[in-house]
Amino acid sequence: MRIGIGFDIHRLISGRDLILGGVKLPSAKGLAGHSDSDVLLHALADALLGAAGAGDLGTFFPDTDPRWRNAPSRIFVKKALALAARGGWSVANVDLVVVTEAPKLAPHREAVIRSVARLLSVPPARVNLKAKTMEGLGEIGKGRAIASYAVALLEKSSPRKRGSSLS
Ligand code: MG
Repeated sequence: MRIGIGFDIHRLISGRDLILGGVKLPSAKGLAGHSDSDVLLHALADALLGAAGAGDLGTFFPDTDPRWRNAPSRIFVKKALALAARGGWSVANVDLVVVTEAPKLAPHREAVIRSVARLLSVPPARVNLKAKTMEGLGEIGKGRAIASYAVALLEKSSPRKRGSSLS
């Protein structure tokens, strides 16, 4: 097995959609950035790359490259999955944290989990999502940014393991 960790943070600004885990959420503000700025998928992609020993997101998708302007972040996760698969690794489970004051994630939690599971081609039981606030502290606490942490566990692809209790 191999484990990886990812982190990302984006500023919240007016005039952009808020997309988390590939799901567009109702919000007056969205995340600033070069791509669609899906902070959750950026952290997840880095966690997958870390577990695969394949570097980081910025190496593959520099934010100076016009090809990735407003790009859907699922392509970053797909690239990380492809690199992992090349090494014979598949996703055992991922654990995700979104740190945000607003919007509240609880009403959207299942939709985001389903979206991420679909993207990873794993059952939803292998994706866990937690939402935290900063209790009003700091830039995130003041509603100026959203951060995300991700941990990904990869396992060697093996037909024997496909019927495990997590599947
Ligand atoms: Mg990012």
